[in-house]
Amino acid sequence: MKNIGINGYGTIGKRVADAVSAQDDMKIVGVTKRSPDFEAQMAVKKGYDLYLSAPEKESQFEEAGIEVSGTADELFEKLDLVVDCTPGGIGSQNKTDIYEKIGLKAIFEGGEDHDAIGSSFNAEANYESNIGKDYVRVVSCNTTGLCRTLKPVYDLAGIKKVRAVMVRRAADPNDAKKGPINAIVPTTEVPSHHGPDVQTIIPDVTVITMALMVPTTLMHTHNIMVELENNVTTDDVLDAFKEAYRVLPIQKSLKLGSTAEIMEYAKDLGRSRGNMYEIPVWEESVNVEDGELFYMQAVHQESDVVPENVDAIRAMLELEDDGEKSIIKTNKAMGIL
Ligand code: NAD
Repeated sequence: MKNIGINGYGTIGKRVADAVSAQDDMKIVGVTKRSPDFEAQMAVKKGYDLYLSAPEKESQFEEAGIEVSGTADELFEKLDLVVDCTPGGIGSQNKTDIYEKIGLKAIFEGGEDHDAIGSSFNAEANYESNIGKDYVRVVSCNTTGLCRTLKPVYDLAGIKKVRAVMVRRAADPNDAKKGPINAIVPTTEVPSHHGPDVQTIIPDVTVITMALMVPTTLMHTHNIMVELENNVTTDDVLDAFKEAYRVLPIQKSLKLGSTAEIMEYAKDLGRSRGNMYEIPVWEESVNVEDGELFYMQAVHQESDVVPENVDAIRAMLELEDDGEKSIIKTNKAMGIL
């Protein structure tokens, strides 16, 4: 049983904590919080030991009646690996300032740059190349979504080139400060950073992306066009998506024609926090025309990366050397379809 900690118990951190707790080969020893808010209260209520990443705030936790087990540094001493879920940029700093100094293995999230961490991870695409690594970045929600569906297409038909238009949610549902509230904001940097990020995982595929932000909090959607190397049919692609472990072909005709309905479906599935770990692909949108594949997918930004973190832990701690076995184990423990 490996000892895991979460540094930064926020949107991603709290979900990763629960996913790790659902496994039988790893456990959460503690999580860190900076402020004595409702998430800190809930962490303790769930049975997680809470450690302070800002020890000078100890009295604030005391005043709020939130039990603390020590400082983040004390937590790190107890761990085999830390999952750093702090906001983008802080993880890379923690890598050099803390983890490298104490020799602690660490996973970082998509807000960090590939170069700062050295290795990027997606379970179905490159589990094996991350076995035994000390520092690994689980790529962002959007990059994870692209890798999940491009990898099976690549294996099935080969890929000459990918173009994708990413429609991005403006903020997470709990975020009262970000916008836009009533505007579409194009990312005028073309190509956007998403394509090169996919190439940190699947290096020999050219992916060119454009992005725009829209006033929604629920999910991102991707419109994807793939020039194929080999002749395949629409049904071949659909079969490949059905066989992939974390891709979920869905039908608009079942009243799943929008991100709102997909989020309702996730709730009906009884998923904690309404999580949709799989990448839903609209079956009706999958179409091969003249050697080019077209499809549309959605990404639940708060949860698609969560099972990837569990598999990354298994690879880095050498708990399993077969990526497929790890994926199956993680999926079973988390109820992934
Ligand atoms: P968040 O703001 O919800 O949570 C971050 C947590 O870290 C908060 O609890 C915050 O108090 C804490 N924190 C801040 N500074 C800290 C420090 N110096 N030391 C320890 N803890 C600190 O952020 P998030 O959305 O969970 O994002 C975390 C990472 O996951 C980022 O790299 C982000 O890019 C990535 N990510 C986010 C999403 C998403 O949609 N939310 C999706 C995929 C990946």
